[in-house]
Amino acid sequence: MDAPSLMAAYQLRQREYLLRITRAMNSRLDLPSLLRLILASAAELVAAPAGLIVLYEEDEPVEFDESGTRLEGGRLRIRAYYGFSRQLLPTFRPLLEFWPVPGSRAELQDNEALLDRYRYELEERVREVEAHLGRPLGQVIGLPLVFEEELLGIIYLFRTGSAFTHLDWEFLQGFADQAAIAVRNARLYQQLARERGRLAAIIDNSINGFLILTPGRRVEVINQALAAMLGLSKEEVVGRPCDQVLRLQNVAGDNLCDEPDLLPRLLESPLRCEGDIPRPDGSHISVAVTYTPLFDERGRLANIIGNVVDITPFREEEEIKSTFVSIISHELKTPVAIIKGYAQTLARPDAEWDPETARQGLQVIEEEADRLETLIDTLLDVSRIQAGGLKLDLAEVDLARLLERIVAAYRTQTERHCIELDLPPDLPVIVGDEERLRQVFTNLLSNAIKYSPEGGTIRIGGWVEEDPRRPGRQRAVIYVADQGIGIPESELPHIFDRFYRGDTGLRRRTSGVGLGLYLVHAIVEAHQGEIWIRSEVGKGTTVFVALPVDERE
Ligand code: ATP
Ligand code: MG
Repeated sequence: MDAPSLMAAYQLRQREYLLRITRAMNSRLDLPSLLRLILASAAELVAAPAGLIVLYEEDEPVEFDESGTRLEGGRLRIRAYYGFSRQLLPTFRPLLEFWPVPGSRAELQDNEALLDRYRYELEERVREVEAHLGRPLGQVIGLPLVFEEELLGIIYLFRTGSAFTHLDWEFLQGFADQAAIAVRNARLYQQLARERGRLAAIIDNSINGFLILTPGRRVEVINQALAAMLGLSKEEVVGRPCDQVLRLQNVAGDNLCDEPDLLPRLLESPLRCEGDIPRPDGSHISVAVTYTPLFDERGRLANIIGNVVDITPFREEEEIKSTFVSIISHELKTPVAIIKGYAQTLARPDAEWDPETARQGLQVIEEEADRLETLIDTLLDVSRIQAGGLKLDLAEVDLARLLERIVAAYRTQTERHCIELDLPPDLPVIVGDEERLRQVFTNLLSNAIKYSPEGGTIRIGGWVEEDPRRPGRQRAVIYVADQGIGIPESELPHIFDRFYRGDTGLRRRTSGVGLGLYLVHAIVEAHQGEIWIRSEVGKGTTVFVALPVDERE
C-alpha cells in the first residue's frame, strides 16, 4: 500500500474509533467515570502513556491570595489522571494555574497566533513540572474542552517518544469537542440530580405536609410530615385516589380532593380549604390545604401540588382565648360586683349600720378582694409559665412542716371535712421553692374540699421511694386523697390543661377558672417531679406528687 492510501486507511480507522467512543461517551452520565473514559480513549488515540483532565469547578467560591488579589485560574482541578500515581498529582500545580491567553477562552480555536503562544506557554509550564518531578514528561498536548464558547477544562496528554503531529492535534481536537459535549451533559445531569435531591430533601423534611397528585387526582408523592398527620405509611398511600387519602371533615373552602368539579377553577388559580383530619384515637388535627397547579412545557396540567399545614395550635389558641375571655370576665366580675354592692350599701347616707352588720359587710369585701388578688396572681403565673417557664427560688424545704401549716389553715375553713395528715416520720428535707410548693398543696387541698360537697375525710400522706426515672436516687411522694365526686376517665387526660374545668353539675355551682391544676403541674415539672391522679367517680380522687429528694447536686 502506498503512503496516501495508508494514510487514508489510518484516518478511516481513527474516524471509526472516534464514532465508537463518542457513542460510549454520550451514554455515560456519571462524571468521574466519563472523565476516565475520555482520558483513556484520548491517550489510546495517540498512544500517550500519561495524561490528566483538569476541569473548572462549578459553584466554587473565588479564591484570593494573602494580599487579597484574586488568583487567576484558581478554580481548575484535576478530575482524572492516567499513567501517574496519586502522590505525584500535587507536582502538576503549574498546569492548574494555567491560562495565559488573554480575552475569551474560546478565541483560542482557529487563531494560529494565539495557539502558538498557548503552546509556548504550555511548554514552559511543563518544564516547571518536570523540574519538580525530576524526570522528563516529553511532548505535551493541551486540548481545551470548549462547549458553546465556554471553556470547561483541559485534557493534557504526555508522550516521551515521537512528537505530536499537526494531525494528532487536529484529530484530538475533534475528539475533545465531542468530549466537551459529553462532559457538559454529565454536568447538567448531575446538576439536575442534585437539584432533584435537594427538592426531595426539602419536601421530605418539611414540617408541612406535601402531596403531589396526578391530574387524575391520584397520589404520586407524599412526604413524611403528611403521612404522620394521616397516621399512614407512604407506601399505603401512593397510587391511591386523593379523596381516600386526605379525608377531611368539617371542610370550609374548596377541597379539590373531594370535588372533581373544581378542576377547571384550579387551572385559573390555587384553591384553598380548611378541615379536620380524624385520628385513630378519636382526636383530630385541623389543617389548611392549598392546591396549586403545575403545568408542563406545553401548558397542560402536569401535577397538582397539595400543601397541608397543621393549624391545630392556632385553632386551640383561638378556643383558649375565647374561653379565657368568658371565664375571666365571669370570675372577675363576680367579686367586683359583690365588693361594689357591699361598699355602696355600707356607704348609703340614709342608713345607719350597727357595728356587727358593718363588720360582716367589710369582711365580705375583704374576702372578695382576696379572691381577686389570688386570681390576678394566678393569671400572672400562667403568663410567666407561657413566657418560658417558672423560675424557682431554691432552698431546703421541710415538707412535713409545710404540710402541717397548710392543713392547720384549711381546718379552720371547713367544718364538713375531716382533714387528716399522715406522714412518715422520716420524710426527708427536699430542695425546692417553698412558696411554689405551698401553691401546689393549697391548690390540691382546695380542690379536694371543693369537689367533696358532701364532706368526708381528706387524707394527706406520703412515703419515700427510689426514683424510677433516676435509679439509685430517692423521691418523696405526697398524696392528697378525698372522698368526693371523682373524675370521669374521659376527663383525666385534660385535667392539667389550661382553663379546663370538669363537666359536672358542680361546675356551675363552684367557682374556679380551671387554672389550679395547670399551675400545679407546671410547678411540679419545674421541680423535675411527677404528678398523677387516680380517681373513681362517686368514690373519690387521689392526686400524687413526687419530688426528687436531692435536687441540688
Ligand atoms: P381553679 O382554677 O380555681 O383551681 P378548678 O378547680 O376548676 O379552678 P383545676 O384545679 O385546674 O380547676 O381543676 C380542673 C378540673 O379538674 C376541675 O374543674 C374539676 O372538674 C377537676 N378536679 C380537680 N380536682 C378534683 C378533685 N379532687 N375531685 C374531683 N374533680 C377534680
Ligand atoms: Mg382548683
